[in-house]
Formats: sequence, C-alpha cells, structure tokens
Amino acid sequence: MSDFNVYEVRKDFPGLAQQVHGQPLIYFDNAATAQKPQCVIDEVSNYYQKYTSNINRGAHYLSDIATQKYCEARSTIARFINASDASNIVFTRGTTEAINLVAHSLGRCHLSPGDEIILTEMEHHANIVPWYLIAKDYQLKLRVAPVLDNGELDIISFKKLFSSRTKLAAFTHVSNTLGTINPVSDLIAIAKSFGVPTLIDGAQALHHVPIDVKALEVDFYAFSSHKAYGPSGIGALYALKHWLESFPPYQGGGDMIAQLSFENISFAQSPKKFEAGTPNIEGALGFARALTYLESIGLAKIYAYEHELSRYMHEQIAKLKHVKLIGQAHHKVSLISFTIEGVHPHDASSIFDRQGIAIRAGHLCTQPIMKRFGVSALSRASLAFYNTHEEVDQFIAAFEQIFKVFKL
Ligand code: PMP
Repeated sequence: MSDFNVYEVRKDFPGLAQQVHGQPLIYFDNAATAQKPQCVIDEVSNYYQKYTSNINRGAHYLSDIATQKYCEARSTIARFINASDASNIVFTRGTTEAINLVAHSLGRCHLSPGDEIILTEMEHHANIVPWYLIAKDYQLKLRVAPVLDNGELDIISFKKLFSSRTKLAAFTHVSNTLGTINPVSDLIAIAKSFGVPTLIDGAQALHHVPIDVKALEVDFYAFSSHKAYGPSGIGALYALKHWLESFPPYQGGGDMIAQLSFENISFAQSPKKFEAGTPNIEGALGFARALTYLESIGLAKIYAYEHELSRYMHEQIAKLKHVKLIGQAHHKVSLISFTIEGVHPHDASSIFDRQGIAIRAGHLCTQPIMKRFGVSALSRASLAFYNTHEEVDQFIAAFEQIFKVFKL
C-alpha cells in the first residue's frame, strides 16, 4: 500500500472535486454507482468524436475500428475475471439483465415443474425477481438460505436445502446491504457435491475482491460496469460455453442470425446469439477502460487500501452511541449499513446531504434482509478507493448534527 497515493488517485475523478450545498462533496454512495475516472469519460467521448459507427456489418474504416475496439473490450473483460475465452462473455445491460438471461433460458429449456432453485436471504431483488417470475411460469420452487445474526450466510442451512430436485444455486458474491463477502468457492463446492450448477451475482464484487471464474468453476457470473467505475447501461454475463450453446436466443433482432428466411432462422454462435440489435458500443469500450484503469493502479493496492479504510470506518462508527450496525461479517467490503435510534434513514441521509455527504437510505432493493433484521429501511455508507480517512472523520463528525436535531 506504500506507493498508493489516494490524493493522486482522486485527481483522476473529476466528479469528486465539486461542492454540493456549498460543501466539498463526500461521495459515500459507491455501492449504488461509482464516480468515473477521466480516462473512462475520454474513452466514451473519443468514440463519439472519432469513430462513431455501427459495429460488425460496416465495410468501412470507422466501423472496422469500432468493431475491433468492441472485440478488444470483450477480451479485456474476459481477462479481468480470468475467463478461458472472450466468447464466454455476453454483453448485457448489467447484472440485472444477465441474471434475467440465465433465468429465462434455464426456464425455457432446462427446468420442469417441481424443480428447485436455491437463493439466499441476502440477495438483491435483481437475484430474486427473475427467479420468482420463472418459478411462477414453470411451477418451480424457490428455497432460501437464511442469514446469521452477524450478517454471514448460514452455510449449514444452505447445504441442507440441496436435494435431487435442486437445479441451480444462485447467490451474491458480496451483499450490497450487509457488505458480507460470501465464501463463494465453499458454496460452489457444496453445490458441486450435489451436481448443481451455480450463478454468482457479482455486482458488488467485481471491483472489491479478486475474481477468477476459472478457479471458482462457477457456471454463471453476472456483473455491471457502473459500480466498477465504468459507464452505466452495460455489464456482462460470464457463462460456461456448454450453457451458452444449449440456450436458445434470449431476444431476437439484427446481428444475431446466421441465415434467415420467413420459414427458418439459424442463429449466430454465442455470444452474438445473445446480443440482438446494436449494442451499447461506447459502454463496452468505457467498461473495458475502467478495468484497465484499475489494473494500472494495481488491484492488490486497491483492495489493501479499501480494507484499511473500511477497518477505520468500522472502528470510528463503533464509538458512536445511538448507532446500530447491521452486518458485522468477518469478511466485509468497505460499506456499513446502520440505523440511528429514533431517526428515519431518509431523515438521516437528508442531514448528511446538507453537509455534502452522499449516502444511501431505504430498503436497498433487499427487502428480505430488511425483514430478517426487523427494519423497514437502513442508511448505507459505501466507500471506494478514492475515499479518504479525513472523509470518514467528517462523516463521523456529521452524526453530531443528527444527534442535535433529534435531541439524542
Ligand atoms: N446485485 C447487487 C448485489 C447489487 O447491488 C445490484 C445493484 N444495486 C444489482 C445486483 C443490480 O445491478 P444493476 O442495477 O447494475 O443491474
């Protein structure tokens, strides 16, 4: 961590150098979406300025460049998560669409009434609703693994849910509410011992923990660009080849067929088979640029810095009276969710906002975990590697204003 200089890194992010409500911005809503480095902004803007064109079908100079860059972007993303091949990567709108693609494809050709899918209580709605929808369509049953009081998954109960009816286990790598980093290789090993394939929701993990899909031997890994410092509206699904080959197209349109007549259509090979229509070309380029930017700083340095910052934030918040943390797993990313005695999280976030501090409040698209911990809403502060210890100090000091307003 010695040569990691957060003040230098911050200069890469123009969004951080602004004021809100007359106060320097402290951006602690990174789990919702992250600020973008200048190189990502430039990558997207370069596409518009220099090689705007459609990909794949244009036999001209600009289209060739755009096509090549789009292909390179796929390879960069594959390399970042250590996929065997770029063809394991399907571009999607994000994690949500990636999970929907798997759910609908499995439903259409691999699942039968009575089959079961295992989820966990800490899933984001993006990893619940698609399964709920196909469970209704195909008469499947969802089984849900509980979460322990400290915010870790109850692995013993998770294991007990498996049976001959289980057809998939889908779980988050990192919880967006609890911050818990799940022991995904152990969970995959359990699923494998029952011959069950796995899907990981990697939306909160891609930029916080090392990911090696080959070593994990996971079947599906879904993730988004915008939380990993890239543009929004783009993400990807990693999938083992045999799944992609067995799935029918998810959507129909241009750029995904081999031959077409009104009577008969043959489809392009995956991943093209799943990318109907003009894709988010600039998004893919910006996404890949965000990942190479992270690599240029050094992933190990980023993880180490975030870990230390997270430790510091946890240490400081533990000193505050009236504040209760939800989620105290042993392995956590740099986020805290909390309640303040007698204060609604939305009121708390407004008071933080007036002090220039952006945090999140609400059910965080995780209503089951809200129910589990007996709350209807939480406040969440989520940190990135461009946040500083001084910002944490200011955040902690800002609680005083809340205590004063609510006479705590
Ligand atoms: N899963 C988790 C754990 C998330 O935090 C999010 C985003 N909040 C999603 C899935 C959905 O990601 P997206 O909205 O980018 O598709």
